[in-house]
Amino acid sequence: MNHIIIQKSDGSAESHLDNLRVLFEKLEIPFKKGNSVGVKIHWGELGNHSYLSPMYTAAIVSWLRTRDISPLVFDTTVLYSGGRRTGEDALKTAHDHGFTEKFLGCPVIIADGMDGRSVIDIEARYKHFEHVQVADIVRKCDGFIIFSHFKGHLGAGFGGCIKNISMGFASRAQKQRMHADAHPVLQKKLCTRCGTCADICPAGAITITPPDFPEFNLAACLGCAQCIALCPEVALKIFWNADNRVFLERLVETAAAVWKHIHDKTICINALIKVTTDCDCLPGDHSIIAPDTGFIGGTHPIAVDKESVRQVGGAIITQAHPSIPWDHQFSYAHEIGFDDDHK
Ligand code: SF4
Ligand code: SF4
Repeated sequence: MNHIIIQKSDGSAESHLDNLRVLFEKLEIPFKKGNSVGVKIHWGELGNHSYLSPMYTAAIVSWLRTRDISPLVFDTTVLYSGGRRTGEDALKTAHDHGFTEKFLGCPVIIADGMDGRSVIDIEARYKHFEHVQVADIVRKCDGFIIFSHFKGHLGAGFGGCIKNISMGFASRAQKQRMHADAHPVLQKKLCTRCGTCADICPAGAITITPPDFPEFNLAACLGCAQCIALCPEVALKIFWNADNRVFLERLVETAAAVWKHIHDKTICINALIKVTTDCDCLPGDHSIIAPDTGFIGGTHPIAVDKESVRQVGGAIITQAHPSIPWDHQFSYAHEIGFDDDHK
């Protein structure tokens, strides 16, 4: 049976930290003295203002150290332009956001390598993926803590532990495979022809020749949705070549494949703090959609995400992303045997 701990806070930073420490003591810990434990976090895209403070990661590191466990903090590079596309940029963004070795007390690394090549294929054997390509850290650490900021997400409805394992461990190629069916659609009446989308497209798939509207080369489009997220006029809508459920299924399959490798040596903690409409991958300010609840801890990502949805309220997630069937993350996970009743 997968146990779940709900550690509620009163909303203050001190209360959050105290409750995170209490949560540690209540969790069943699969680590032993001398183990190397990877702490999977998201330190926020450059210009994002809603990522979790590094003080929470520092508290996790400190707690591991007091048990003679050797932590390291990690994330992987991303598809889109911004502050995390290369290993070098990603570490600079981590530094700028306060996630430094000096502050955290342990190494901060890019798990898929500074050149994006520290990756391996692992077996999946699901409908969309026979194999998935992920950072090779999946085989290198004795254990993991998946520390996730629970919030809304443009493509998945919500982003929690499932997404942090899936996109978070995935190589850039695997991220692209998951996003492959998405592309932007221009709403001309809203477009000011500012050119922002062309400037930020990592694939060079957008051209704009004033005074014309931007043109999209969909054959070159990676489906990263960065232009959709960053258009200042909200003039781009996301279009899924297939059902959006296919993206959710690919997301879940990647998480499930990783979970097979780490299920017996991992704990999951979701922070329900600054629960925003959108992901920390996006620059800027995002509206808060739910009050701070605290932390949900447990031994299975599905159980932890389900409880997080329950605490925030499914209706609030639907209101933030009405066109996303976000609960398909759970129904598809169940369909493939990746749920809180199974490892
Ligand atoms: S960023 Fe938006 S408003 Fe600017 S050119 Fe692109 S679609 Fe038009
Ligand atoms: S056109 Fe495609 S690749 Fe370029 S930013 Fe938009 S979604 Fe990403």
